[in-house]
Amino acid sequence: MSFASLGLSDALVRAVTEVGYTTPTPIQLQAIPAVLAGRDLLANAQTGTGKTAGFVLPILHRLAAQPASGRRIIRVLILTPTRELAAQVEESVRVYGKHVSPKSTVIFGGVNINPQIDALKRGVDIVVATPGRLLDHHGQRTIDLSKVEVLVLDEADRMLDMGFMPDIKRILALLPKKRQNLLFSATFSDEIRALATGMLHDPLAIQVTPRNSTVEAVAQKVLPVEAKRKSELLAHLIKDNSWYQVLVFTRTKHGANRLAAQLEKNGISALPIHGNKSQNARTRALAAFKSGELQTLVATDIAARGLDIEQLPHVVNFDLPNVPEDYVHRIGRTGRAGATGEAISLVSREEQPLLRDIERVIRRQLPREVVPGFEAGSLPSDSFVEATVQRDARPGPKRSEQARRGDRGAKPGRGPAQAPKGKSAPRREAGSAPARSPAAAPSSRPAGEQRPDSQRSTAGKGRSGRPSQSRRDEGSTAVRSNLPPGWK
Ligand code: AMP
Repeated sequence: MSFASLGLSDALVRAVTEVGYTTPTPIQLQAIPAVLAGRDLLANAQTGTGKTAGFVLPILHRLAAQPASGRRIIRVLILTPTRELAAQVEESVRVYGKHVSPKSTVIFGGVNINPQIDALKRGVDIVVATPGRLLDHHGQRTIDLSKVEVLVLDEADRMLDMGFMPDIKRILALLPKKRQNLLFSATFSDEIRALATGMLHDPLAIQVTPRNSTVEAVAQKVLPVEAKRKSELLAHLIKDNSWYQVLVFTRTKHGANRLAAQLEKNGISALPIHGNKSQNARTRALAAFKSGELQTLVATDIAARGLDIEQLPHVVNFDLPNVPEDYVHRIGRTGRAGATGEAISLVSREEQPLLRDIERVIRRQLPREVVPGFEAGSLPSDSFVEATVQRDARPGPKRSEQARRGDRGAKPGRGPAQAPKGKSAPRREAGSAPARSPAAAPSSRPAGEQRPDSQRSTAGKGRSGRPSQSRRDEGSTAVRSNLPPGWK
């Protein structure tokens, strides 16, 4: 089946051929004819399935086939949850619309509104927007949505998760009643279904992956690890396997900043991307990551939403998401459009309930694999900068003082005696490790102190007596089934 046989114009077929697509993806096969026929859509599809071309191509076809007379008016509104996704979708509109006349613009917050106003004044057919800034334009009367013929809600589930429901309702009220509606969502909660019922007319339901399942092409596994050794394990995996393009998810913005800094200290290029970063910083980080200049992008769920990086080989869940559906979104970044990918979750003992929730949603149990050297009781590597720095900065008296405080102020991923000198220990982030496990005790030895021989004999083997440190020194990432204590 070719793009031409789906009924698309020569100009559009030429554009997709130029970007290298030869065959439509399953969602494109179903969505394109339906949208061309003017039907509403309820599509269960996640990023990576080719859904954007699935709605952009037929929309461009229809606009070009029935050009509006006179001045350009906004005929299509595409709403996305994030700035990055809005920018990406609009870029797709430009790429696929290279040989046709309709014009587009993108509208999102965090940047100067004036260039957006100028673009709207010049006249566009298609607006891709995030809800908040779109409503700002409406408030300032710089946009007219009264002639919209097609509305697309892209990643509708995420828009709801991000609290955009009231904004969406306000926007719907600004649009003509009679219009075509296309709703895309990776997951289907009751709230999404209610929104769809109120908005769609006799929709064609499309499902390209089983409900709430994860992309088949993605190899998924769980690496059980102590919370405080996660960054060390990540650095080890990246270095040992020579990973060149890794998208890492953390639960918090602060966690993303800290992890990126730790990786940098260990010679791995990394930048955080999250909502506190300026739009320019986000765009620069994404561009560097896409071009291969930046090895690791550390993102929060919201910032990563809709990131389209072709054939992303590795996605790492540094923290498990609180919302199980986010797991599906996260790993949708890899194994895109038929390419294979790997999604790895570094899971601490404390995160097991979250893991169980995820497995319930994706309806499968993920394989657990313990990386040699990271079994419970094995020691941090001397080559890991953060561990070394902390050991060096750990005088004895401070440790006992912290022990008295009951570890409450311990920084996630650090032992209790590791708070920086002269500073009160920072508050613990959600999901971080609680009290350190006894297995970590040997790492609190002051700098330069040798292990007593009695300990040294087992140090290379971990508490269980199995080889650990020495195996890791060989650079092996072979995996084993010896789960740390407390793991089921
Ligand atoms: P999307 O799901 O829209 O984010 O698209 C995921 C990726 O698939 C993007 O990088 C597209 O460029 C790519 N893509 C979309 N359609 C096709 C196709 N028919 N053949 C190959 N790649 C495609």
